[in-house]
Amino acid sequence: MSDQIRVRFAPSPTGFLHVGGARTALFNWLFARHSGGKFILRIEDTDRERSKPEYEEAILRDMRWLGLDWDEGPLVGGDKAPYFQTQRASIYSQQMEKLLSQGNAYHCFCTTEELNADREAQVAAGKIYRYSGKCARLNPDEVRWKIEKGEAFAIRLRVQEGTTTFSDIVRGQVTVNHHEIDDLVLVRRGGEPTYNFVAVVDDALMEISHVIRGDDHLPNTPKQILIYKALGFKIPQFAHIPLILGEDRTPLSKRHGASSVSEFTRQGYLPETMMNYLALLGWSFDGKTEIFSKDDLIKRFSLDRIVKSAAAFDYEKLQWLNGHYLRLLDDEKMFQLCRDYLLENKIISIDRVKNDEAYLRRVIVLVRGNLKLISQVGEQVVYILNDTYPFDSAALAKFKVRENAVIFEKVIEVLKEADSLTAAPLEEKFRNAATQLGKKFGELVHPMRLAITGRTSSPNLFEIMEILGKERCLDRFQGFLKLILKG
Ligand code: GLU
Repeated sequence: MSDQIRVRFAPSPTGFLHVGGARTALFNWLFARHSGGKFILRIEDTDRERSKPEYEEAILRDMRWLGLDWDEGPLVGGDKAPYFQTQRASIYSQQMEKLLSQGNAYHCFCTTEELNADREAQVAAGKIYRYSGKCARLNPDEVRWKIEKGEAFAIRLRVQEGTTTFSDIVRGQVTVNHHEIDDLVLVRRGGEPTYNFVAVVDDALMEISHVIRGDDHLPNTPKQILIYKALGFKIPQFAHIPLILGEDRTPLSKRHGASSVSEFTRQGYLPETMMNYLALLGWSFDGKTEIFSKDDLIKRFSLDRIVKSAAAFDYEKLQWLNGHYLRLLDDEKMFQLCRDYLLENKIISIDRVKNDEAYLRRVIVLVRGNLKLISQVGEQVVYILNDTYPFDSAALAKFKVRENAVIFEKVIEVLKEADSLTAAPLEEKFRNAATQLGKKFGELVHPMRLAITGRTSSPNLFEIMEILGKERCLDRFQGFLKLILKG
């Protein structure tokens, strides 16, 4: 076995890629990229009922979207192929034969009914259930006879008395008494091998050096160590990373909001945001730096900076971070993302994009500073692309008052006279108009903004007016004045 660092991400394709899984994948990937090791992707699809090809595709797509490329695994292949557990049945049988022939595993013929009855009796007696060990004591002839008779069997690991200790990179030393570990089932009665067994066989044969995974798997680790030992395999190092919690300190789930990578993609988050944010969930470089590019993360990542306590998912911080990465995009990339979003969500038609592309580009440049998410673009361009748009009702009540009629009359007069709508000189004209009316500039701008945009905050009003053009602005001011006069 080489000393090379080899890590793996081993998703079960029974659902979309959750942020917890994505964070596990990221930590493995960063560790491999930092150390010049290999990152392996293995699909744990043994649960045939719940595993779905569409989930598998979605997981691969989301990993690629995040930028987590794998060195071995589906699509790319590798020396240790196959990388799908359903294609490795003969490998598992071979390893199982080894365990059985050396007496480290045994056939268990107990029926589900017997096991249930035994469990109920033990629980009723106030005990923690453990398998009675009945079949561990069968002699080889009895076993052969039962198999020949066609009795169904599971296969269990023969666990001896004692304790297992291992040193987890995050959790430190963990010791478990074997009383707490049953003679665990390695192959079920139906012939299906269990997760603990196949994960060990795969990790060993794929020469995984470090198993980095969520700490919900911590209870499996001593069991897996016993399997490594029984098979004579080298035991990898383990690092169990803390849970991700929602704001109410319960494990992050749909109840808290978006929780899968594809939902965040749909909402308009950028992959660089997700990578940066996921890295901060349970890892800290110096306790204060929050912005890390992909290269920074690769350079700085280390397992000893994984924190022990659970990480809380903060949607507000994620949005803030996305605002940061959006600001870094050049206008071209920003235009492409916004255009695609507007098209996909049928906010604009493909014809409008074709006919008005230059105009659309100007609009995006104008509103981009207000975006924390690409998905906010629809709401930001509504009053520019359309002439009917919603009004903020509180602001409407405040500004649609008789005293403002004089303001709009003046505004209309100034605008009619303007021969150019270039933003800076236009602003100057309205500053003068305010002075002439004996009003503060703000007293003019706030109602004007409401009339033009329907809202109380927007990008620079005069830049918006420049983009809208004289006729559309006049219509809006005149319409608003009419509303005021109607009372
Ligand atoms: N397929 C397991 C899961 O998705 C992998 C656990 C492991 O990393 O060992 O939870």
